[in-house]
Amino acid sequence: DPRIHGIKTKIRVVPNFPKPGIMFQDITTLLLDPKSFKDTIDLFVERYKGKNISVVAGIEARGFIFGPPIALAIGAKFVPLRKPKKLPGDVIFEEYTLEYGRDRLEMHVGAVQLGERALVVDDLIATGGTLCAAMNLLERVGAEVVECACLIELPDLQGRERLNGKPLYVLVEYQ
Ligand code: IMP
Repeated sequence: DPRIHGIKTKIRVVPNFPKPGIMFQDITTLLLDPKSFKDTIDLFVERYKGKNISVVAGIEARGFIFGPPIALAIGAKFVPLRKPKKLPGDVIFEEYTLEYGRDRLEMHVGAVQLGERALVVDDLIATGGTLCAAMNLLERVGAEVVECACLIELPDLQGRERLNGKPLYVLVEYQ
C-alpha cells in the first residue's frame, strides 16, 4: 500500500533514548502530519471494519492515541489498559518483565464481557511482553482476542513468538 511509505518517513528514530544503545521509535512526528496520521488510522479501520469487533483495548500510553479513533470508526467500545494505580475502580492485573525489573497492566473489572471480540492496539512491539500481558487480561475475562495491531515491529526481538500464535498486524518493520 503506497500509504505505508509515507507513514514510515514520518516516524522519527532517536538514537540513545531513553538510554544508550536504544534506537527509540518516536511516533509524535507522525502525529504532526495529519495526512499520515489519518492514513495510519484508515489502514487499521479498513482491516477491522465489519469483523464484528466489539472492543478495542489500547495500551498506555501510545495505544491511547491510536486505539480510540479506530474504535469509533468500527463502532467498538474503547477500554484502556493502564499502568498501576491509575484506574479508580476494581481491577485485574497482569505482570510482565521489562529489560530491568517488572511492570504491570491493569484493566477495570466489568469493562469487557464474556465472549466479546477484542482488538489490542499499541504503537510498537519489541519483546512482545506488553502485548502478551494485554491479551492475558482480555482472555481471563472470557474475551476472544481477534488480533493485535501495532504501527511498528522490531522483528529482531522476535516478539511475535511470545504471542502464543495470536495474529499480529503491523504497518512498519524497523530492522
Ligand atoms: P515490549 O513489551 O518489549 O514488546 O515493548 C513494547 C512496549 O514498549 C510498548 O508499549 C511500546 O510503546 C514501548 N516501546 C519499546 N520500545 C519503544 C520505542 O522504540 N518507541 C516507542 N515505544 C517503545
